[in-house]
Amino acid sequence: RAKEQGRNSYQFYTEGMQDREVLRLELDRDLSQALANDEFVLYFQPQLNLETGRINSVEALIRWQHPVRGLLPPAEFIPLAEESGRITEIGRWVVRAACRQLTRWKGTPCEHLRIAVNLSGRELDDDTLIDHIRQTLNSEGVAPSRLEVELTEEIFIQNIEHNLNQLSQLHQLGVHLAIDDFGVGYSSLGYLRDFPVDLLKIDRSFITDVTERHDDAVITRAVINLAHNLGIQVVAEGVETEEQLHFLKAHRCNLVQGYLISCPIPAHDLEQALEEGILSPEHPVGQGL
Ligand code: C2E
Ligand code: MG
Ligand code: MG
Ligand code: MG
Repeated sequence: RAKEQGRNSYQFYTEGMQDREVLRLELDRDLSQALANDEFVLYFQPQLNLETGRINSVEALIRWQHPVRGLLPPAEFIPLAEESGRITEIGRWVVRAACRQLTRWKGTPCEHLRIAVNLSGRELDDDTLIDHIRQTLNSEGVAPSRLEVELTEEIFIQNIEHNLNQLSQLHQLGVHLAIDDFGVGYSSLGYLRDFPVDLLKIDRSFITDVTERHDDAVITRAVINLAHNLGIQVVAEGVETEEQLHFLKAHRCNLVQGYLISCPIPAHDLEQALEEGILSPEHPVGQGL
């Protein structure tokens, strides 16, 4: 009996594996068409500046309007694209789409915004990335200071010299650099000394219980102080409650981002929200995605 059960669970396991493998292959095939078919879209999530009460920057978050599966979040295709290497093309599309958006926003309530784009560590491996960003900014007529790049701490673990070189070029160009998901990586703090970092984004996992857990509060305060003493600004990710907002304000966090202010929303909704001046913790915008 035990043997039978074992065999059954083994079969179940392999069928599950096969399903997943089929799904992966299908998605990978679809991914190769997605760019040509113009199926990616950028959503934008505002960052509230706690000193000014204004919104001067937004993070661009990619979604895939899949012809059959509907609107897919990045978790469902970015890891796959990283594995296959397609992420390089996607990253280029993201940078171009962000620059185009900045151009389109001229003369609208969004014209002062900076856009932060997420890049995978893997994209930094590409020696032509910085040239590509420079050319895209040029051809779209966008000032480099309107663009920010978010990278996670993984870039400080491997290929450090190469990555430092790439990011120094980016910094010289005038593009801002943010460290995303700060505090959950395995890298050392030494890179904060060596790399041209403009912003730290405290990972949501510290913010979620920041008003209930002493340890999260201590870590969050320490990160803010560390960053400020190094001349780096701090963004808190995943702010969902008034209490979190008050805590962060009291401890001089520079910017907050989260559902309390707004979910990631399409460009048009952002324009409307800024035009109506309704983006504030009192009037959150969008429904979680
Ligand atoms: P991230 O850059 O750390 O982005 C923050 C994620 O948290 C986003 O998920 C956002 O929608 C979500 N979020 C924002 N506020 C809140 C909140 O208050 N509560 C909760 N529970 N979640 C919140 P999303 O859009 O699904 O993106 C997930 C990740 O996918 C991003 O994490 C980023 O690492 C990656 N990603 C997104 N766009 C791109 C892209 O264009 N290129 C690359 N390479 N990666 C991307
Ligand atoms: Mg990010
Ligand atoms: Mg993050
Ligand atoms: Mg993340």
